[in-house]
Amino acid sequence: MRQNVREQAHAESQVEEARLNEPGFRRKWERMVDRYLLKIAAPMAIVSLLLLGLGAAAAWTIHTQQVGTSDVVGREVEGLLATHDYYSRMRDARHRIKEYAGTGDHQAAEAIPELRQKSREHLERAESLAGTDEQKALIATINHAYYLFWGKFDQINSPEFQGDRQAALNTLTTRESTAGVVEATEKYIELSRDVAIRTTEASRESSALMRKGFLLLSICGGIGGLLAGLALARALRRSIVQLEVSVRSAEGKLVPIAGHVRITRTGGLKELESGLARIESQITDLVERVQRSETDLLRSEQLAAVGQLAAGIAHEFRNPLMPMKILVQAALERNDGRGLCGRQLEVVEEEIERLERSIQVFLEFARPVSPEMSEFDIVAVVGQALELVEGRAHKQAVSLRRRLPEEPVTMVADVGQIRQVLLNLLLNALDAMPEGGEAAVSIRRLSREDVPRAARSIAWCEIRIADSGTGLADDVLARVFQPFVTTKETGTGLGLSICRRIVIAHGGEISARNLQHGGAEFCIRLPCLPAAAVPAHIGQLLKTV
Ligand code: ADP
Repeated sequence: MRQNVREQAHAESQVEEARLNEPGFRRKWERMVDRYLLKIAAPMAIVSLLLLGLGAAAAWTIHTQQVGTSDVVGREVEGLLATHDYYSRMRDARHRIKEYAGTGDHQAAEAIPELRQKSREHLERAESLAGTDEQKALIATINHAYYLFWGKFDQINSPEFQGDRQAALNTLTTRESTAGVVEATEKYIELSRDVAIRTTEASRESSALMRKGFLLLSICGGIGGLLAGLALARALRRSIVQLEVSVRSAEGKLVPIAGHVRITRTGGLKELESGLARIESQITDLVERVQRSETDLLRSEQLAAVGQLAAGIAHEFRNPLMPMKILVQAALERNDGRGLCGRQLEVVEEEIERLERSIQVFLEFARPVSPEMSEFDIVAVVGQALELVEGRAHKQAVSLRRRLPEEPVTMVADVGQIRQVLLNLLLNALDAMPEGGEAAVSIRRLSREDVPRAARSIAWCEIRIADSGTGLADDVLARVFQPFVTTKETGTGLGLSICRRIVIAHGGEISARNLQHGGAEFCIRLPCLPAAAVPAHIGQLLKTV
């Protein structure tokens, strides 16, 4: 019983160890970091890119707007200057004409054509810069007045002119006759100034709007960054807490055996990481300690077995020695010199044979199990074992049923020892069916789903031997694999104990149970590889009962 509890605890510690090692806390940590980088950094990168895009778009808009505004203002100013220059030249020309008309000074008349030419150029320049419909209409009016003025001037200066040339020129230069040109030009200058002012104001307004936009964008960016940082911190904290819970639960499991692993709540990631490293080293220590105590346990188990063996030998030898002693004592008491008679000698011989059989079994029990590995087909070996017990089964009216796979199941093991196990189980089954019955033997390969994750790298096969016999008594079932447990009159109680040792030496597991409809079933699970290639005690992970 104690041994069973110990085995259970050992198997659990193996499973726990496999659990701790298999996904690996470090790998779990790294996976978590990757996951959160993807989960949080990706949206943050998208938001940052979005903000960057918005900023770039706003900067580009401001740039094009500024360029547009300076274009418009520049054109208006240029148009304004051209109109102004035109106006000045026209004014100068009028004065010269007036001077010439008043004094007849030819010097004054000489400057007129150049002023006329210059004013024409400035007007053309102003015309090319007129942008709005209103400006174009005003330029057309100025143009019309210009041609009208110079047309009249040319007319007065032509040789065909009949009237008073001086008086006509004076009339041409009066304010009233040039009013059209002056008015339109002043209007044009005013309009251009208005457009320039309006454009500058619009630009100023849009700049103010942009400034507000940028301010909003930077506030949003700041708040967004703050929120993202908070979300990142929260998510990281949550996962750290989760990780801390697993670390703490691992720590909790380690405390009773390996002492405390200090992980403080305030330590943060660095502390957690060093906590993990400490747990890793504690686990390594623990595994070494478990391995050491396993060796100690094995040694003490061996010592206990030697004690049990001595007790068993004493018991087994006392039984046959008793009748021999009685017979010899009776012969001595008679003291008639006849010694033992025929029947008495037969009894002594039978008892000596019984002693020999017991000695043979004890020797087998005492011999260390060191398997000699070879490759064989377990289906064929089961078939041979069945053939060996067929004669006895027939005599006992026991039918043998085979549920064996068609194709061979290759195994690397000690074929002699495996055959011994099979024979032992089959003979026990026949012992349990003195009045006849049915024994069924089945073999199957175990699928990946049938074995725990830690044992999946190995191919396993399962052999079941079931019978319809008496079944195992409750008190026997719990200790059936312990040595010297027997319900048979002449049994040694060592057969199943030897079977178990052989199966474990092969890295496998054996179990027994009672069937619902009566009878017992023994199940052996063996790796299809040499035991040396199979981790120690891994078979216990496959325990069925
Ligand atoms: P032995 O055969 O010398 O008694 P074993 O170790 O082979 O020693 O068996 C121990 C005990 O287990 C048997 O005495 C018997 O009571 C029980 N046992 C084993 N196999 C069966 C079975 N198939 N059906 C019922 N009881 C069984």
